[in-house]
Amino acid sequence: MEYYSTHINKLIEQLSHLPGIGAKSAQRLAFHIMNMPKDQVQQLTSSITGARENIRYCKKCFTLTDRDICPICSNPRRDASVIMVVENTRDLAAYEKTGKFEGLYHVLHGAISPMLGIGPDDIKLKELMMRLSQDDIKEVIIATNSSLEGETTAMYISKLIKPSGIKVSRIASGVPVGGDLEYIDEVTLLRALEGRVEL
Ligand code: ZN
Repeated sequence: MEYYSTHINKLIEQLSHLPGIGAKSAQRLAFHIMNMPKDQVQQLTSSITGARENIRYCKKCFTLTDRDICPICSNPRRDASVIMVVENTRDLAAYEKTGKFEGLYHVLHGAISPMLGIGPDDIKLKELMMRLSQDDIKEVIIATNSSLEGETTAMYISKLIKPSGIKVSRIASGVPVGGDLEYIDEVTLLRALEGRVEL
């Protein structure tokens, strides 16, 4: 890449750090940006910095939001006695899109992975247990991915919650193994939710 200017090289390098962006895509994006009108580039950069500066974790469910308590947690029409545990905010969005889940969520921001050295303390698990001890929760639906990490996490959480007497269920295995929830269609997600089994 020596044949590009230092500025373009820098941009290509930064873009290639993004997930799913390889060297070729990074180059394509960099040149696309160079050809964009300056004010559009300005809008793009300010929306990136604006989002990064204003987005924080919801104090209750830990999803990404621009308020202290996210719109889902602060909606009085949601059933606060049911909590669906997901790995990330994108998974939450996938379930929200179905429009059929009326409970609240808890976003772990990851999954337990002994191989990657990610333990229970590295995800928002203590925070979940805190919620369960403080609020009146009747059911916890574990909707982590069906990957090895997702299953490990589900098992770990269910063992942790079981003694409290709160009902713990796992979404049905209609979700393809290792499939990221956000790529699964709404019908499959609904079926997985409706066919959940008690652990
Ligand atoms: Zn929330």
